[in-house]
Amino acid sequence: MGEMEFDAEVKEIIKRTYNVKSFRFEKPRNLSYKPGQFMFITVKIDGQERQKHFTISSSPTEDFLEFTKKLTGHEFSNALDALKEGVWVRIRAPYGFFSFEGEHDKVGMLTGGIGVTPLRSMCKYVTDSKLSTRITLLYSNRTGQDIVFKDQFDEMQKQNRNLKVVYTLTRPSEEWEGYTGRVNKGMVEKEIPDYKDRVFYTSGPPKLVESMENLLKELEVPKDQIKKENFPGY
Ligand SMILES: Cc1cc2nc3c(=O)[nH]c(=O)nc-3n(C[C@H](O)[C@H](O)[C@H](O)COP(=O)(O)OP(=O)(O)OC[C@H]3O[C@@H](n4cnc5c(N)ncnc54)[C@H](O)[C@@H]3O)c2cc1C
Repeated sequence: MGEMEFDAEVKEIIKRTYNVKSFRFEKPRNLSYKPGQFMFITVKIDGQERQKHFTISSSPTEDFLEFTKKLTGHEFSNALDALKEGVWVRIRAPYGFFSFEGEHDKVGMLTGGIGVTPLRSMCKYVTDSKLSTRITLLYSNRTGQDIVFKDQFDEMQKQNRNLKVVYTLTRPSEEWEGYTGRVNKGMVEKEIPDYKDRVFYTSGPPKLVESMENLLKELEVPKDQIKKENFPGY
């Protein structure tokens, strides 16, 4: 099925962290998308229509359509932050080639902060569909309060023993016992020892994606085993 454009009302707003919110919509029956794809959201700002891209953070196995926004304090972000249930938006979906539906048996995922949205969709899809894909996600954040979808990843790991999520914090509290600093080569070598056999997915702000790609190149992961999605605007 192809792309669709449709009017929608905000159905539910979920606060994920102190600066991240998810927005949910009814999923049209005839909309079909792949985990990891994105959509365009149009909102009205001072009577003018404005649009931006957002990953579909829901999984096709879920009965709603969701995107998840980091609140930046900028104009578009403030308009989204002010949205209430019942407010009109226009959606165009689905778009993009950064997706995973079980094509690879062994996957590595590297991201930070809001870059996790497409990977959340993929992990949820794999878990709900009971696929046997082995996935290790290395996920970096500033503090423990910044980890988006932490409860969900914890729950998914209980349901899916082939999924491993490893967190690292760049500004950890004294109690933090996990990794510190950004995702680095040593973490990949330790947590994903068979990294040369894996297909890697990395997504998020362009600087983050570039550094993850460089790290994988240094580890001599072949280029065709690296899939990436940039979120320009951060
Ligand atoms: C494929 C794809 C998927 C994406 N998925 C997601 C996602 O899942 N979640 C997500 O949060 N984002 C996602 N993005 C990024 C998203 O589209 C926006 O670019 C991003 O959220 C920044 O939006 P904003 O609301 O801060 O935008 P704007 O308000 O337009 O701000 C964008 C930039 O403009 C500048 N700017 C704007 N206003 C001012 C001002 N008053 N003063 C100074 N500078 C200003 C800033 O540099 C700012 O970073 C995705 C992008 C792509 C391409």
